[in-house]
Amino acid sequence: MGKIIVIGSQKGGVGKTTTTLNLAYSLREMGKKVLTVDFDSQANLTTCYGIEDTGALEYTIGHLMMAQIEEELPENFEDYIQSREGVDYIPSSIYLSVVDAKLRTEMGAERMAEVLEPLRSRYDYILIDACPALGMLTINALAAADEVIITVNPQLLAMMGLQDFLRTVGKIKKRINPRLEIAGILLTMCESRTTLCKVLTEEVTESFQGKIKVFQTRIPATVKVGESIYYNMPIAQYSKKASAGIAYRKFAKEIIAYEG
Ligand code: ADP
Ligand code: MG
Repeated sequence: MGKIIVIGSQKGGVGKTTTTLNLAYSLREMGKKVLTVDFDSQANLTTCYGIEDTGALEYTIGHLMMAQIEEELPENFEDYIQSREGVDYIPSSIYLSVVDAKLRTEMGAERMAEVLEPLRSRYDYILIDACPALGMLTINALAAADEVIITVNPQLLAMMGLQDFLRTVGKIKKRINPRLEIAGILLTMCESRTTLCKVLTEEVTESFQGKIKVFQTRIPATVKVGESIYYNMPIAQYSKKASAGIAYRKFAKEIIAYEG
């Protein structure tokens, strides 16, 4: 059975999408079958896969969620699953914001879980790129997941808001999804040479010591990440020697070794 992992944070700009894209690519390189789900109406991950006009897509995670709400889930998901470099993905579009609004009146936290359940046996890993908010979409993603990886950008006041996210994870585990575990905190965009980054990294590590794992791998900040995204490629594919690509490979090994 595949593992469903949410890449989450209540903040934007902390490397969720970059981590989903690159972790998926590295897991695939290591022979794993991987599906990513773009669960953000901004559709950045979908754009990373080379789709420019996401608004024109007719088969997205938003459409699947809406079908679930209307109790019309298709038997067969083939139209919704695209593939790039051996990694399968379900795209997103602005339509997901319609679903978000609808979920406020329809309620129901286990809709995403129901959408993903038939796909679980087909993959080793299903990675969900969550949206930067603690609304119904994120609640649905967490209710569907086995694990959550929290990405933290030490440059963006790392600790701020983290407690709210952790509290939400705790509530979902208690009330809806007892399987849910925090795999750990991944530090992204680390400027290892700067003092601020060191101080903030220590702050995060110390405050969660013994409670939440901070992954050994840290993703360095490098302009190569922006370049690779511009060319619609994972960093490891764009440049064999880029430090962030090497780090994501190492991170993939850490994820495979982690048996939560
Ligand atoms: P989120 O999905 O959390 O909003 P993104 O993954 O989109 O965050 O990253 C935010 C911005 O930071 C993007 O412009 C991305 O290119 C850049 N970025 C992400 N990771 C790195 C990195 N390791 N080094 C440099 N820039 C990065
Ligand atoms: Mg994103």
